[in-house]
Amino acid sequence: MAIRTRAPGASAAARARSTGAAARSSGSPAVKRARGARLRAAQQPTRLPPGIASVLSVLSSSAVVVDSNDRVLRASAAARAFGLVKGDRLMVSELAALARQVRRDGEIREGEFEVPVPRFGGRSTSFAVRVAPLGGAVGGGGLVLVLAEDQTESRRVAQRLTNLVQDLITLSRIQAVEPVPDPRPVPLDMVVAEAVDRCRMKANARGIALTSVGSSGLSVLGDEDLLVTALRNLLENAVAYSPERTRVVITTKRTSDGHAELSVADQGIGIPERDLERIFERFYRVDPARSRATGGTGLGLAIVKHVMAAHNGKVTVRSAEGAGSTFTLFVPLRSEQVSTGVALIPQTAEPNSTGNAQEALK
Ligand code: ATP
Ligand code: MG
Repeated sequence: MAIRTRAPGASAAARARSTGAAARSSGSPAVKRARGARLRAAQQPTRLPPGIASVLSVLSSSAVVVDSNDRVLRASAAARAFGLVKGDRLMVSELAALARQVRRDGEIREGEFEVPVPRFGGRSTSFAVRVAPLGGAVGGGGLVLVLAEDQTESRRVAQRLTNLVQDLITLSRIQAVEPVPDPRPVPLDMVVAEAVDRCRMKANARGIALTSVGSSGLSVLGDEDLLVTALRNLLENAVAYSPERTRVVITTKRTSDGHAELSVADQGIGIPERDLERIFERFYRVDPARSRATGGTGLGLAIVKHVMAAHNGKVTVRSAEGAGSTFTLFVPLRSEQVSTGVALIPQTAEPNSTGNAQEALK
């Protein structure tokens, strides 16, 4: 956990300590009375300062008050729902340690930490935390307030904005260079390997198997980065719009008219016929509500279309609602491959390497 601390001077506990020290030195009857009052207060069970309980009950963030024995006196519903508190115990040891430090020196501390509570498909929830001494406690004090704010949603927003900006940059870059200005030989095996590599984590997280089958050794003229971007976008869609524990198959083939064909077939939700023409438009999304959950921006397929145009190729789609989709990229083969031909070698250990994407899924 990353922890920052604030200047101690302003804290209530620090003020309380310095007042006590000044009073001790005077030794007056007033001091004795104050000492007696402190002693009596220390013998009483710690109570919450008035109003704190009602404030905690309406807080949507996780808020916890712990006493001088590390016991939880009060916790908001969110703190319990996230598992930060069970019974009268703080369950996150870093938080308990932080509360003790704050109680000792009266310094307010801030930090960030992760707890293993899955949210939005992630494995843990990240919290911004602020721990402060609670002044004015009745009965001896030592109370510490722990506030923990769930950061998952705001992080998601910032990540979406980053993706959006990145996609816009990619799109304007491609539109500016159609056709690719300095085309180079690009082995499609590399393109497939790289794109699969970049999607592997997302696929694994959803239990989706990515397999590549078909011909190896094909190469085209173009820009490797852009071709990887195009295929990666298709793979990301296949993973995002498919149920967990399904399969996605990438098939590489050559066509009889001198093109390389790269198809991505999934067993996903499919696309209604009426939307098929529009999905390559910028920002077009079939089901905005569902798409929002995947965190995309609707630029992926527009990028794919422009990458294909820049390579003198094209992208096609076949899909049926509920039965999966197959997107196919066509790129002209390098001329020497068209004239001499390239051996068709099954590429992976996949038992079904028929070369037909939807067939391979069966
Ligand atoms: P991003 O910009 O992050 O790619 P996106 O995935 O929503 O966002 P596109 O990749 O352009 O944008 O896809 C447009 C829409 O087409 C998606 O919102 C989704 O509705 C539909 N779509 C694309 N691929 C598939 C697929 N394999 N299965 C089902 N629907 C798909
Ligand atoms: Mg997409």
